[in-house]
Amino acid sequence: MWSWVFPRQCGSCGTPLLAGEEGACIACLLRLPQTLFWRRPQQNDGYYRLAPLNPNIRGVICGFWYTAGSPLRIWVQLAKYSGRPHLLRSAATYLAYLIAEEGLLPLDRMQGILPIPISAARLRRRGYNQAEWIAQGLSTPWGLPILHRHWKRQGASASQLQKTRIQRWESLKEDFLCTQAIPSPIVVVDDVLTTGATLTAALHSLPVQVEAWVVTVGITQRRR
Ligand SMILES: [Zn+2]
Repeated sequence: MWSWVFPRQCGSCGTPLLAGEEGACIACLLRLPQTLFWRRPQQNDGYYRLAPLNPNIRGVICGFWYTAGSPLRIWVQLAKYSGRPHLLRSAATYLAYLIAEEGLLPLDRMQGILPIPISAARLRRRGYNQAEWIAQGLSTPWGLPILHRHWKRQGASASQLQKTRIQRWESLKEDFLCTQAIPSPIVVVDDVLTTGATLTAALHSLPVQVEAWVVTVGITQRRR
């Protein structure tokens, strides 16, 4: 019914989609470089980046490497700048199955999925929050609710460019705000883990007793 709005083609390679495929075809999903972090959520580069600064983190799972040759890189750009978040959602659904089948995330204990919010101004500009699309991709296979109105991000204050690193961190920390009680444990979702500054600022705004499992679709490789 929607095929006239979203043509039934892989958004990445253009081949016609088969029944059951949505956004990206299976061949493109298989081309995503898997990290296998779901097999060791407390022993991976994502965990090492985030956990030292975030005592409420119980595990970190980033699905695929966000590297130069990875299709994920293009998919994130399409979601952020071209109004096409569908491929990211496909990648998230694929990741959801990988985690459910061979991962060590205790899904039966999770109380919901909490996407990292974006500011109202950015939401107006972009039309959607790509972390919400990722949350949707995880929510159906896992049977977990998305906590839509529990967390918000206030407009970014004055230009970040004039600020020192510490000042930027301080203002980032104040950006995030819980607007409702957050159940525990929960899955916190973002698109790509880079330095972890945004996720850390966001996690610090959650009540201390909330146990968080972080899931991102991508992770950058550390420069060596
Ligand atoms: Zn494809």
